[in-house]
Amino acid sequence: MIAGEKESWRNWSGTVACRPEIIQPASLEELARTVAECGRAGRHLRVAGAGHSFTPLVESDDVLLSLDHLQGLEKVDRERGTAVVLAGTRLGSLGELLLAHGLAQENLGDIDVQSIAGAISTGTHGTGLRFGSLSTQVVALTLITASGDLIECSEEENRDLFKAAQVSLGTLGVIARVTLRVVPARPLHYIGRRASLEDCLDNLERYREENEHFEFFWFPYTPWVQAKWINTTEEAVRQNSRWGRLWSNVNQLMLENGVFWLLSEANRLVPTLSATVSRISALGVASVDEIDYPHRIFATPRLVRFVEMEYSIAADQLRPVLEEIRACIEEQRFKVHFPVECRFVKGDDIWLSPAYGRDSAYVAVHMYKGMEYKPYFRHVEAIFRRYEGRPHWGKIHTRRPEELAALYPRWHDFRRLRAQLDPQGIFLNPYLRELFAVDEPLPTPTSQPEPASS
Ligand SMILES: Cc1cc2nc3c(=O)[nH]c(=O)nc-3n(C[C@H](O)[C@H](O)[C@H](O)COP(=O)(O)OP(=O)(O)OC[C@H]3O[C@@H](n4cnc5c(N)ncnc54)[C@H](O)[C@@H]3O)c2cc1C
Repeated sequence: MIAGEKESWRNWSGTVACRPEIIQPASLEELARTVAECGRAGRHLRVAGAGHSFTPLVESDDVLLSLDHLQGLEKVDRERGTAVVLAGTRLGSLGELLLAHGLAQENLGDIDVQSIAGAISTGTHGTGLRFGSLSTQVVALTLITASGDLIECSEEENRDLFKAAQVSLGTLGVIARVTLRVVPARPLHYIGRRASLEDCLDNLERYREENEHFEFFWFPYTPWVQAKWINTTEEAVRQNSRWGRLWSNVNQLMLENGVFWLLSEANRLVPTLSATVSRISALGVASVDEIDYPHRIFATPRLVRFVEMEYSIAADQLRPVLEEIRACIEEQRFKVHFPVECRFVKGDDIWLSPAYGRDSAYVAVHMYKGMEYKPYFRHVEAIFRRYEGRPHWGKIHTRRPEELAALYPRWHDFRRLRAQLDPQGIFLNPYLRELFAVDEPLPTPTSQPEPASS
């Protein structure tokens, strides 16, 4: 069955390209059969979601599985507040499917095109210190292992496997189905405006404690940020007419994406313009006052392509880290006009979650596609390193396995479980072999305490 043509595959940012044999199973049975066949034939396979990761996680020169035909809501249990979702389901359509049942995901990131399995596999997160990453919304998973077996795991069943699989970079098996904890869909009130960086930093604790979701984007070479405060409201949705929504979308496409793209192109052609472009972008920040359902409020179209690095640090370290990044950009005169994004995430107990055991601040730096990003990212990564930063798995970083082992108390437990589930390494590519030091011996297990903030 697996003997098709090779096709081109590229990730969203264009940083990863490969020529795999792409297979799109149409049922869970076909998916399990394909994985088992690959296992027997010693073939290597990776799974692609929406291809929005910047790192070579999805790269495959053999088989690439796409679960685009395995999308949809299988079951909703309103009493328990859970929804069973096929792994390939895109977050945007999931939002609409859940809304039809009066339900929603409690938090989301800033786009909604990812697949649910891809998003949880890298620890995708939104913002809000009361909310964990999307992986913490998962209450159970069905995993297809290298042998083609279906294993169910949850807090109650196969707990270690569950804690490892909640963020697993597609290395333990193929996630076929996800049971999510969902909440009643209540409208959110989103207030956004330009503010001063000083105000943001002086009021950081208050803003993040008093609001369900708070984040800000600092524009390099300026004293300005775009700040967003998002909270549940009893008021009715304000943009409920089709025309209202259409107008808001057109506005967002033109101002946030169209004009920003033109400015970005100008900056790519004349990089010395970056400080000016950053200033113009800051001045163009629109004031927003909207009420809508969660997935519509959290998600923004991101049409201007970029590369990104994002790290998680302890929540109370945001101010010094941001101040160091600001000084570094100004000293080195980096040609960057994309804002630095600052968000907050509640700590969790998921083995490879960057928020493991600590309430976290996430800081992300971006560079417009086609512009030199390596020196900028290298300098900023050195700052994150000094603050025991843990990289976002889907975003660019250069961390070595021995450093990751020191940052993640359950690192070797994860490696052990991976080796046990997939001894032949069918779910690995060269990037992942190196990341998990697959060819190096595993240390003897020691018992690990659970993190305090779980
Ligand atoms: C414009 C943009 C905005 C973004 N915004 C945010 C944000 O707000 N917050 C944030 O945290 N991140 C953000 N990201 C990063 C993004 O959410 C993650 O990289 C996410 O993993 C992408 O999901 P995907 O479906 O594209 O997965 P892919 O990138 O296709 O895959 C990611 C990983 O999941 C694995 N995988 C996919 N499906 C399965 C499966 N069924 N079983 C097992 N493994 C699987 C893949 O093998 C791979 O290891 C953003 C990225 C972009 C490009």
